[in-house]
Amino acid sequence: MSTSSVLAWLEEHERKREAAGLRRRLRARTGGPGPGGGGDPVDLAGNNYLGLAGDPRVTAAAARAALAWGGGSTGSRLVTGNTAAHEEFERALAGFLGAEAALVFSSGYLANLGVVSGLAGRGDLIVSECLNHASLIDACRLSRARIAVVGHNAPDEVAQALATRSEERAYVVTDAVFSVDGDLAPLARLAEVCRAHGAVLIVDEAHGIGVYGEGGRGAVHAAGLAGSPDVVATVTLSKSLGSQGGAVVGPRAVVEHLVDTARSFIFDTGLAPACVGAASAALEILRSEPELAGRVRANARRLYETATAAGLAASPPKGAVTSVRIGDPELTVELAALCAQHGVSVGCFRPPSVPDGASRLRLTARADLGPEQFAAARRALGAVAERLG
Ligand code: PMP
Repeated sequence: MSTSSVLAWLEEHERKREAAGLRRRLRARTGGPGPGGGGDPVDLAGNNYLGLAGDPRVTAAAARAALAWGGGSTGSRLVTGNTAAHEEFERALAGFLGAEAALVFSSGYLANLGVVSGLAGRGDLIVSECLNHASLIDACRLSRARIAVVGHNAPDEVAQALATRSEERAYVVTDAVFSVDGDLAPLARLAEVCRAHGAVLIVDEAHGIGVYGEGGRGAVHAAGLAGSPDVVATVTLSKSLGSQGGAVVGPRAVVEHLVDTARSFIFDTGLAPACVGAASAALEILRSEPELAGRVRANARRLYETATAAGLAASPPKGAVTSVRIGDPELTVELAALCAQHGVSVGCFRPPSVPDGASRLRLTARADLGPEQFAAARRALGAVAERLG
């Protein structure tokens, strides 16, 4: 293929995306993330669940870490990119979640790639829930294991896939709190099934940590699975913890194995010190203010009730996320713009983030939403309902 035929293909592809309402456009945010209420417009689109990304205690800790350790980490953690701050944070995170050990990656995406492809390989089986986040899907593909995709919240299908396998080693991978509809995986049941069939359960707690369970310890902890030898969790530091980065949390043997084998750990520059500092401060705030998690869940419930009171089909939230099903991608874009006109920023989910015909608006709650933000949400969702007739 010559360069010109690539360019012609790009143009053609762009035209098709435009016609299908699937073009995505970058828009620069015009200010910092808070603190307090989500600024202007009201932020119901981001993942700053506890409002900590703009908390002065978190931003000051980020600045201190950068001054102490540098603007970047300077290398892979196996070479020069590891600091005492990274290791302290790993101990604090593992302790908070009740796990033996943790390993910090430079994003949640890379933590998922690392844990799945570091543990599973050719000749293994991965049973993967159909609504898993894209990073888990990519991780499964990267592993070269055989992948059995099962239905949503279907532990019996998981059991069937495990029982009929020919592979010796098997893994079950699932989101804890699903990122689009905000519902919860049946973790206790999945762990039982895994145990009965000698499989390891890998759980993505991106939307669980800081939001779900006792003091925001996540869904694995809430299911009584913290510290289990056959359960491994991943977290992102970019949502509740107001920073960036990710981590694998679980048995020490798993963490040690990943240090030697996870390519997204070995061949990636270590997480920037400022991010480690911010996440450490946020974790300390979460530990000392355990009510934050309950507050974000209550606010999500209130957003859900606001949407349903307006007559919209919203999903009942288990964590911070609720979404309003629309269907058509172009209409979804139009409705997100309508919310923006009413001073509220909402998520606009279209394929490939969701299946064809399942486009939706996603609303994410924050712990620091107040009466003014709820009033704006009521106005915006009322306008959406009116437009839908
Ligand atoms: N897993 C889930 C469920 C997510 O929603 C996200 C982020 N959108 C990730 C993993 C990736 O985390 P990060 O943004 O830290 O790469």
